[in-house]
Amino acid sequence: MNANYIEELNEGQRAAVLYNEGPSLVIAGAGSGKTRVLTYKIAYLLENGYQPWNILALTFTNKAAREMKERIARQVGDQRARHLWMGTFHSIFLRILHAEAANIGFTSQFTIYDTADSKSLVRSIIKEMGLDEKVYKPGSVQARISNAKNHLVSPAGYASNKEAYEGDCAAKMPAIRDIYHRYWDRCRQADAMDFDDLLFYTFILFRDHPEVLARYQEQFRYILVDEYQDTNYAQHSIVLQLAKDHQHVCVVGDDAQSIYSFRGADIDNILYFTKVYPNTKVFKLEQNYRSTQTIVCAANSLIEKNERQIRKEVFSEKEKGEAIGVFQAYSDVEEGDIVVNKIAELRRSENYAYSDFAILYRTNAQSRVFEEAMRKRGMPYRIYGGLSFYQRKEIKDVIAYFRLVVNPNDEEAFKRIINYPARGIGDTTVGKIITAATENNISLWAVLCEPLTYGLNFNKGTHSKLQIFRDLIGGFIEGTVEKNAYEIGTEIIRQSGIINDVCQDNSPENLSRKENIEELVNGMSDFCALRMEEGNLNISLTDFLSEVSLLTDQDSDNGDDEKITLMTVHSAKGLEFRNVFVVGMEENLFPSSMVGDSPRALEEERRLFYVAITRAEEHCFLSYARTRFRYGKMEFGSPSRFLKDIDIRFLRLPQDAGIGSKIDEEAGSFRREHSGGFSRSPHVRESLYNTEKETPQRSKQQIIAPSVPRNLKRVTPATSSSTPTSASVMAVQPGQLIEHERFGLGEVMKVEGQGDNAKATIHFKNAGDKQLLLRFARFKII
Ligand code: ATP
Ligand code: MG
Repeated sequence: MNANYIEELNEGQRAAVLYNEGPSLVIAGAGSGKTRVLTYKIAYLLENGYQPWNILALTFTNKAAREMKERIARQVGDQRARHLWMGTFHSIFLRILHAEAANIGFTSQFTIYDTADSKSLVRSIIKEMGLDEKVYKPGSVQARISNAKNHLVSPAGYASNKEAYEGDCAAKMPAIRDIYHRYWDRCRQADAMDFDDLLFYTFILFRDHPEVLARYQEQFRYILVDEYQDTNYAQHSIVLQLAKDHQHVCVVGDDAQSIYSFRGADIDNILYFTKVYPNTKVFKLEQNYRSTQTIVCAANSLIEKNERQIRKEVFSEKEKGEAIGVFQAYSDVEEGDIVVNKIAELRRSENYAYSDFAILYRTNAQSRVFEEAMRKRGMPYRIYGGLSFYQRKEIKDVIAYFRLVVNPNDEEAFKRIINYPARGIGDTTVGKIITAATENNISLWAVLCEPLTYGLNFNKGTHSKLQIFRDLIGGFIEGTVEKNAYEIGTEIIRQSGIINDVCQDNSPENLSRKENIEELVNGMSDFCALRMEEGNLNISLTDFLSEVSLLTDQDSDNGDDEKITLMTVHSAKGLEFRNVFVVGMEENLFPSSMVGDSPRALEEERRLFYVAITRAEEHCFLSYARTRFRYGKMEFGSPSRFLKDIDIRFLRLPQDAGIGSKIDEEAGSFRREHSGGFSRSPHVRESLYNTEKETPQRSKQQIIAPSVPRNLKRVTPATSSSTPTSASVMAVQPGQLIEHERFGLGEVMKVEGQGDNAKATIHFKNAGDKQLLLRFARFKII
């Protein structure tokens, strides 16, 4: 964007950006600039009287929000962009709920249950109720509860809506509504919310507290939503609550890319938008700026086969481009080889970088053969999805400690760590605590604190083990008063015994667990440092938890890695790559075998395939294998019916198929990147393994010094109470060029304030304007 950024839009896009009279809907095919319209519209609003905090912009991933914010920051400055309310539905609502928790009976320290926690709670409830786990499968019970919540159906509503919400399962699982009821109560007792609750409770908050709703309606004077086709009923309803009066709402989406119905997304939200907001102005965009003409035409010919859709003409004025190559392989392993050879060939012939390639598949399990093929050739790659950093056992253990310290009532965190690392508290004891808690409607922690009051007379040994655990957590809780997230975090990891547990031996598993914990601590250090640089000096453990509890793999992407991307088609939504391989184009894989005879489900799979193809800018390839190893045995497959849906004029079918082409010897080193992590630096080691109690000053030096590049000043995640000396503030003047550890090259524009309060406004080449507190800033003058 530049001063004339409005000129960078075509006529339709410009009209959509400039229209601000009432509700608007931009409905357009892939790559036609919908996200660009939203981004530019926000910049335009900011330049025309709106304050950043008056704008609410909701996106589907944190990554999308971050990219948008960066672009807007370049236009209007970082200071203004920072105050935008921009993020995923979940992260924005989490922020609102933290502020308003008391209104809905939670504390502001409430914690988040991730999917595994929810499932574990459902499983305990099923067990406690004496139900058969084979009939009441925790995963499917949880999915039903989630579905009810996404339709804003409470346990009470569920009971009275038996037919509608249970369908044929009412007979099979009559107790499901009781499970839902208990689940609901138990989350409340634990002062915890699951992901769906973040939507549901926001709705309840606004519904039951008109004065709170009025405040947010007043604040969010303009509401913008990307990927509207994938909103569910709850999300749609909350937007409606907020926009009802002023109707300043602009949503963009493409019905042809609605791919999340299994998570409750409802394509009707976009199809009936104009009915819900009767004065809606609809904008259609038709020019695709992403892909070659061939790719656009192929995608059009595919999506035409769906009945349920808003017909659109999408065209491209880019070059015609090559036909979409289709590869046939004899086996899944060969499919891996063919794809990787093709990547090597294109790199040689057209000079592409590794990051110009993406391999997209229907299911995560398919990544393995490609990983192996790339590893053999030393090609760098990065997998999104799979087990994310925060889902790993050791990280979940540490986070469970953090959660219990912030919110001792958190039941799932309690159960996870009461006997980890092993401290001789057995299942029987924990079982008794759970029963007493359930009978008395209180939390497990409350029972732990006064077992006798709740009829638990443990023997002396058990009693003292429980007391040690209570004192351990109690000590950490006290520590949070004075210590910042980083300090208390490292203390917890050391004193809980986790670090000793993973250092027991040098097995590869333990080494990798240890490294992951180090990365987590590094991340905390970086988190505190960055916040301090920005002038926020009290960074609590709660702040850190809020930051990480909604992170996904994709969010940690910094975008500049020179690596091939591997991801599911679902997670590729909204992204673009110069070259795309859509692999595993076989019946029962893509379309998935779950489709059965459902025409609706088949149409959703076809939309998913449409999303896959339209990610490609220059080259797109499709491949399938004749045999594939699945569920432990070899299966024969036939090419996907979707291949026939594409007009044959746009395909290059497999005669040569690339089979048997020479295996390329690409140089380079393999490095499987565990996404979701943080950059590693050596200082963490010292802070973790030094078991002595350190004074803040000592810890500061030990922790930080080794990681600071000689000529770079690095912030100390120091205690909130210790004040760094003014010696650390350098003489910085406007006009100087600097290099920041994270933001790169920049120029000092302005210096204000003195001593500890001295701040500099710096214009970064790639990150826009930032105002940094000098005593914490991490840069060198160049
Ligand atoms: P999707 O449906 O996949 O989310 P989209 O409609 O949001 O796509 P964008 O991602 O906004 O499309 O735009 C696709 C690409 O086209 C981007 O690289 C964008 O920068 C570029 N683009 C959009 N509009 C224009 C334009 N008017 N001139 C030049 N490039 C454009
Ligand atoms: Mg988009």
